[in-house]
Amino acid sequence: MNHPGPEQPADVVARLRATFRTGRTKPVEWRTAQLHRLRALLTENGPDLEAALHADLGKSAAEAQRTEIGFTVREIDHTLDHLADWLRPEPAPVPAHLGADATAWTQYDPLGVVLVVAPWNYPAQLLLAPVVGALAAGNAVVAKPSELAPATSSVLARLLPRYLDTEAVAVVEGGVPETTALLAERFDHVFYTGNGTVGRIVMRAAAEHLTPVTLELGGKSPAFVDRDVDLDVVAARLAGGKFLNAGQTCVAPDYVLTDPETAAALEPALVRAVEGLYGTDPARSAEYARIVNERHYDRLTGLLDSGRVVVGGTGDRSEKYIAPTVLADVAPEAPVMREEIFGPILPIVTVSGPDEAIDFVNDRDKPLALYVFSESDATRERFAAETSSGGLGHGLPLAHLTVSDLPFGGVGESGMGNYHGRYSIETFSHRKAVLKKP
Ligand code: NAD
Repeated sequence: MNHPGPEQPADVVARLRATFRTGRTKPVEWRTAQLHRLRALLTENGPDLEAALHADLGKSAAEAQRTEIGFTVREIDHTLDHLADWLRPEPAPVPAHLGADATAWTQYDPLGVVLVVAPWNYPAQLLLAPVVGALAAGNAVVAKPSELAPATSSVLARLLPRYLDTEAVAVVEGGVPETTALLAERFDHVFYTGNGTVGRIVMRAAAEHLTPVTLELGGKSPAFVDRDVDLDVVAARLAGGKFLNAGQTCVAPDYVLTDPETAAALEPALVRAVEGLYGTDPARSAEYARIVNERHYDRLTGLLDSGRVVVGGTGDRSEKYIAPTVLADVAPEAPVMREEIFGPILPIVTVSGPDEAIDFVNDRDKPLALYVFSESDATRERFAAETSSGGLGHGLPLAHLTVSDLPFGGVGESGMGNYHGRYSIETFSHRKAVLKKP
């Protein structure tokens, strides 16, 4: 189709809706074909995607593969392996008054035309993993990459139409004006990943059309470190989860809660852990990412004097580099504790023990993730029972979201709804109740 100038959001949505109405996206064969094409896009364009992710965030090729490209390929493979099973209608027992010949079941219907709005921190994964679910559920999709990761946005806008069915999948690039224009249209679902301020804008716009939303938001994800753990192991895992992508990970441990004696021993362990990951000069490590832009660089450097610097504390604005930083003696009301850090700064806040840590968590917004490092079953169970968070990780940060059979999403301020694997099918389908009486 030839268009004079870029297609307007209303025209994109109308075109995809017309496609959806033909039934083209519904057969499972179309869905799996699209997933295979998306898989081919990812495996055939590794170097282009890696270069874009390096340009936007300084991600190494290995990290780009592990956390973006390979991650999405695994999500596709898991979906292809199980899709037929997930889509199978589920029979429901029928009450006697309807007669023995009546049957009932639920069937998964695609919703229609859905919008996926992605953030900049994992700009490929967080656009494409929801798209996998939307396509697997038989929808037409408008994908809006983040303008703050311009290289990735541009490479995906170029490649997606080459691989996927352009009558059913469209990419709209742009920032606030373009997203605002899209949100004025009627979608059948809006899937947004980003911050709570924009999450509210998305939900308000969707409310005009009674469109359901999934909001994948963030917040401060705490990590409690008990006194009975092996601190070198814990420090290595904390640092690995915190400093991946220079701390710009929605489920990164935001801050550490521990008692004063454990804190004193954890500090040198974290110094060793940072050195183990990135050497003595992380600025020279090819494995260490950069801050997305100057605005976030300035915001983050403004947080560096919120405590005593244990390691790091330095930066280079021209390189958008901030050293992996650990801050100790951080007061609960310090600036670094007032907002989601979303950068390579790990504050340690001391509490008397698990009781106070649980209160500390419950006094604040429900986090996207909570991490508990404890050898005690009783303590682990207490955190599980007495706190609320999107996900809970015992002994290992971030990893829960790589388990394809677990739902990924927040609760309260950290979001609503979830996805990954079969939960994406739930999110992007309507469960239709069907009764049949001969
Ligand atoms: P961002 O600035 O890239 O914004 C996300 C999207 O919202 C973009 O596509 C952008 O164009 C759009 N947008 C921005 N302002 C808008 C407006 N006024 N109206 C309409 N659309 C608008 O990303 P961000 O919000 O800076 O991302 C970081 C946040 O995302 C953090 O809070 C992080 O924790 C959260 N996050 C959550 C998850 C998750 O899965 N739960 C994953 C990654 C990031």
